[in-house]
Amino acid sequence: MSTRKKVLLKIIILGDSGVGKTSLMNQYVNKKFSNQYKATIGADFLTKEVMVDDKLVTLQIWDTAGQERFQSLGVAFYRGADACVLVFDVNAGPRDPETFPFIVLGNKIDLESSRVVSQKRAQTWCQSKGNIPYFETSAKEAINVEQAFQTIAKNAMKEEEDVDLAGITDAIQLDKSEPSQSGCSC
Ligand code: GDP
Ligand code: MG
Repeated sequence: MSTRKKVLLKIIILGDSGVGKTSLMNQYVNKKFSNQYKATIGADFLTKEVMVDDKLVTLQIWDTAGQERFQSLGVAFYRGADACVLVFDVNAGPRDPETFPFIVLGNKIDLESSRVVSQKRAQTWCQSKGNIPYFETSAKEAINVEQAFQTIAKNAMKEEEDVDLAGITDAIQLDKSEPSQSGCSC
């Protein structure tokens, strides 16, 4: 049975500024690419119709400025999203993604009465992603903020120390090599 109901999916693209969110959207929707960098202001969407199996689906793809400078668009941007595309730049990756320190903060717990994501659910997710430390925070009421940043600082320091120990020989080699041989064109 195939119901020919029109489907609209809201897809949001997230990622740091400069990783290529707008370029990916433009390539997908308009088949165009530009090397020029134009910072995205606020948020905007493009639509594209695609066939998924035998259904015609309209994708409404939302792009935004990566920085949180445009805070007012936050909730409107996320609300009603059906899926999220997370983009990063492979040239800007962490040295060692396996051990890169992360923490997840479930924020605004002062608004407990309207909570949608339970602590248990968030914790389970974090555990399933290799035991990412999870904190429930309130920036407003200063709940767990200190503890969260203390933890990330501690974990980041631990990484630094490990890298320092392992990287002593690398550092010596780097100092001696010619920078022009690095092949970096950026
Ligand atoms: P956004 O801030 O995430 O929206 O990033 P943009 O789409 O504006 O891209 C930032 C810069 O990276 C621009 O100069 C783009 O031309 C460039 N860029 C984006 N995607 C690619 C890509 O796949 N390859 C290369 N080489 N450059 C890219
Ligand atoms: Mg952009």
